[in-house]
Amino acid sequence: MEASRPRSALRYDPPMRAAILAVGSELLGTDRLDTNSLRITRSLERHGVELRAKAVAGDSEAEVAAAISAALAAHDLVLVTGGLGPTADDITREAAAAALGRGLHTDAVVQATIERRFREHGLRMPAINNRQALIVDGAEVLANRRGTAPGQRIAFEKGAGNGATLFLFPGVPVELEGLIEVFLDPWLAARSGGVGRETATLKIAGLPESAVEERVSPAYAEFGRENITILASPSDIRLRATAEGTDEERRARLAAMTSRLAALAGDAVYAFREEDTMESVVGGLLRAAGRSLTTAESCTGGLVAERLTRVPGSSDYFLGGAVTYTNELKVKLIGVPAELIAEHGAVSEPVARAMAEGVRRALGSDFGIGVTGVAGPGGGSEAKPVGTVHIAVAGPRTGGESGGEIHTDHRKIRFPGDRERVRQHSSQLALEMLRRRLLGIPFSS
Ligand code: AMP
Ligand code: MG
Repeated sequence: MEASRPRSALRYDPPMRAAILAVGSELLGTDRLDTNSLRITRSLERHGVELRAKAVAGDSEAEVAAAISAALAAHDLVLVTGGLGPTADDITREAAAAALGRGLHTDAVVQATIERRFREHGLRMPAINNRQALIVDGAEVLANRRGTAPGQRIAFEKGAGNGATLFLFPGVPVELEGLIEVFLDPWLAARSGGVGRETATLKIAGLPESAVEERVSPAYAEFGRENITILASPSDIRLRATAEGTDEERRARLAAMTSRLAALAGDAVYAFREEDTMESVVGGLLRAAGRSLTTAESCTGGLVAERLTRVPGSSDYFLGGAVTYTNELKVKLIGVPAELIAEHGAVSEPVARAMAEGVRRALGSDFGIGVTGVAGPGGGSEAKPVGTVHIAVAGPRTGGESGGEIHTDHRKIRFPGDRERVRQHSSQLALEMLRRRLLGIPFSS
């Protein structure tokens, strides 16, 4: 369940209502996603500005002008991205001038800057780039160090003492990023009086959404239902806490919310930062424990190994793995007894255990992971329907010596979903089992 976005206590006086317009015909097709509006939204949220509407328009001057006019009429802040390039389809400058009833002029400084950029690259500036020096009358130029098209900021009087501000940003994402940092964020900060909104993320594995909801619901009353959001994705759940206020207020409140939510959600929380992944967390635990890992994968085809090696520096603890897709290779590469497969089938608890134990022995690591299952869509049976997966983790008991007693955890699960989801779930659970093993926390909690 996703709670409605927090809308309370925006302290702009008068309130600041924002709209975003992304310009570019390619954004209307299926090839190119409008990510710029998300980047702008992140800054708006950070500064407590309420985004009320967003839209995508193709490269039509009349349509973009109409969209800007409508947005300006209904909002206090309108942010446009795209259409500031040099080519004929880049019409945002003309459209903005038309929407505001203003003219355009060539800015000599901007023109000289663009010419210099070309010279520095040993090139002559094509005449069409002159269009990028066209500035809406009365606009402030927002210098673009990463590209040729500057941004523009225009204050607009709507009459009766009401005003609005229009920002024009280039569409190239890295250029937009630069202009947001240098111009938009400071402009918003100056208006918000240091007040803003911030989000902290807790990541949870191995629990269904409803169980997470049940656990954390006492926090709703304490911090406000609208400030806590549960976001479910195929293999994990994000718990997001939002706080508003000055830097100091936000920090204190987020710290309080995070520790309360963590206490409620318990040891199913595996990460406290958006950028931490299951594989990076497990990798950190292996490194801290000085333990090494190998993997034997069947239905996941190497996905566990692939995820582990996404983390820079993973060679410190991940030695490698075997994709033992056929019965023959399970026997030949990692020493799974052929009789075990004949007796129980490849998708079975004894074989998962033998894979985990066999790979750590064959490849010489402290821990071994074994994954075998029916990913589908074919291959299911009444006894072993599609989605049935056996996962085993073999290694020394937590805290034990490398040479000591070996213990193997096993779980059998039936995952829902298609082949891709079964594989994703399986890799996540395998890593989650190892995480729990390394932390010494049982699975039932
Ligand atoms: P433009 O400023 O319209 O010339 O766009 C320059 C480049 O940025 C093109 O490759 C666009 O596809 C890309 N771009 C434009 N708008 C967006 C957007 N809203 N999100 C992501 N990329 C964009
Ligand atoms: Mg464009």
